Amino acid sequence: MSLNKSGSTKISIEIAPGLHQLRTPMNTPGLSFVMPYLFEYSEGLILFDAGYGTKNATSALELELKNLGYKVSDINMFLVSHAHPDHLGMVGWLKEKVPHLNLVMHAREKEWLKDRWFKDNNWEERSNRWLLKHGITQEEIDIDYPTDSKGKIAGSKLNLKWAFDQLKGMLSSQNSDGNWRRSFEMNILPDRTVEDEEILEIGDWRLQAIWTPGHTPGHLCLYDSNNKMMLTGDHVLPKITPNVSLHVEDEATQRSPLAEYIASLKRTAAFGGILGLPAHEYNIENLANRCDFLVHHHQERLEEILVSIGEGAVTAAEISSRVKWNTRSFKEFSIWQKRSALGETLAHLTVLEHDERVSKFEDEFIRWEKN
Ligand SMILES: [Zn+2]
Repeated sequence: MSLNKSGSTKISIEIAPGLHQLRTPMNTPGLSFVMPYLFEYSEGLILFDAGYGTKNATSALELELKNLGYKVSDINMFLVSHAHPDHLGMVGWLKEKVPHLNLVMHAREKEWLKDRWFKDNNWEERSNRWLLKHGITQEEIDIDYPTDSKGKIAGSKLNLKWAFDQLKGMLSSQNSDGNWRRSFEMNILPDRTVEDEEILEIGDWRLQAIWTPGHTPGHLCLYDSNNKMMLTGDHVLPKITPNVSLHVEDEATQRSPLAEYIASLKRTAAFGGILGLPAHEYNIENLANRCDFLVHHHQERLEEILVSIGEGAVTAAEISSRVKWNTRSFKEFSIWQKRSALGETLAHLTVLEHDERVSKFEDEFIRWEKN
């Protein structure tokens, strides 16, 4: 970190000529910032991921651009690794500042956004009914997330409830009549989608879209073929194991998020020991090694979940309460953390079912049994 001309702390790093790694703050426990990436070319800038739509995050982006001699309106293209609010959240603000902004994401992410947000506008309710089927009780659903004395959320990695509220807040603040869905439709659906392996030739840059489903259905990494580096979004992080969960909408599409994720890890590992540039934490020195580690981690987790089923048929909630979690025990989780943990358990169970190691049957609840 160094001081720039204006005396403020300079936090952007030039990774390669014309490629800058920035930082925007986030108030989520465990993850304190997002790392957007900026590509310079003769006609302006390409931004890959951005951050939440909060005042401190947008101000940070504005300041970092200024330190590099740019304005927000120099951004022509806003590419996102995926549509979570810590990456896409400031899109409303960006579109206000840059009316010509081209929002780009993978085609599958757009479909997922439409399915989750525009289908019936009550994803949370749909998801809650689904949780009950998997053995979570109504009482657990009624408990909101725990907060500390300052109103901050206590606890773990990525707090989905907080993220969800951020997204809703961002959308409603743009639309005084509270019709946040309209604002959402206006801002969050992409202007353009890219397909797997598509190469974006912009100025001298050759940026290849690498579809890496798992963390979300349309997650995208970006391979910079000039510098032989991979921008990994949340697909590969150096320390945290990215969340890979089954959600209510995945049942209709018969998606297996963990099978997708493992295949995506193997695919990115095949790029070799190149530099990985993630959206959180710090740079990944050897991308292939980190991908191999994550594959191995999930293989171990599959065995742990299999053992946790025990004898007889049990719900995913029961299994989730038996496996070990990094932060605290399942029983102490808020409902949003439980949703995320249960989703992870189900992602693993879906792989075990496909491998014919477990069977699923449904009565009042959905239960799992070892074969
Ligand atoms: Zn993220």
